[in-house]
Amino acid sequence: MDTLAVIFDFDETLMPDSTSALLAKHGIDVERFWTEDAKALIDQGYDQAHAYLRLILENVGPGKALGNLRNSDLSKFGSELDCYYPGVKTIFEDLRQIVNAVSNDLRVEFYIISGGLQDLVQGTTIAKEFAAIYGCTLDEDPDKQSIRWIKRCITFTEKTRYLFEINKGIRPADVLNHHCAVNTSVAEDRRRIPFKNMIYVGDGLTDIPCFSLLKKHGGYGYGVFDPAQQKSAKKALEEFMRADRVLSVYPPDFQAMSGLGAMLRITVQTVANSIVLSQKRS
Ligand SMILES: [Mg+2]
Repeated sequence: MDTLAVIFDFDETLMPDSTSALLAKHGIDVERFWTEDAKALIDQGYDQAHAYLRLILENVGPGKALGNLRNSDLSKFGSELDCYYPGVKTIFEDLRQIVNAVSNDLRVEFYIISGGLQDLVQGTTIAKEFAAIYGCTLDEDPDKQSIRWIKRCITFTEKTRYLFEINKGIRPADVLNHHCAVNTSVAEDRRRIPFKNMIYVGDGLTDIPCFSLLKKHGGYGYGVFDPAQQKSAKKALEEFMRADRVLSVYPPDFQAMSGLGAMLRITVQTVANSIVLSQKRS
């Protein structure tokens, strides 16, 4: 059976930044965290994702802002978030119905590739919609019963690794047994989900390698920006549009009658139709 994949970034694509919401809940000055503390580390050569993960870990411990934070606390926090952008909760079922209406011999899968906290995203009420969720993970110290180490950090081109895993049909569980599974050679015509059957939606600079990869291989990319934030709109223009990396950029509204919501529905239908056409030809 042929499969389409719709792949989403998470933070500021499906909801406002969830890490900032976590920090704010624990009384951490979010503005200072990103613009002073994280920036100071980045200026020293830290990668953005490593910088924020280090700062989170530094805030864990008795008497510190995040206390004895565990991965289960991240999931619980994720489950309490309900600030999804309009239409997020219904888009998955809508896209499934569109694909089913085109053919019974087709399916659509959803994925998240995020530089945010995987355990938090896995706790959200929409997590059940996704075939896999890839994000940064932290490991717990069994003695201290709290998170202590960085287990996996997803940043920039690292995101494309997961597009290749999805493309080749490599599941997260496969990677536990074979950590370089992504490098396995698979002939183009035997890959589970061709890049041309993929649609990627993201808002940030870390999403650009994914946009570029899909564009090169006939897939689709949609940029998301917040029109209420001038900085976000400017970034969308400079980084996404001018560079010709995405089809178009839209405010984060997934309802059927909004620009992004309509384009996603039409794109899924178009990709589904073209798959059926090639099924008939072969
Ligand atoms: Mg984002």
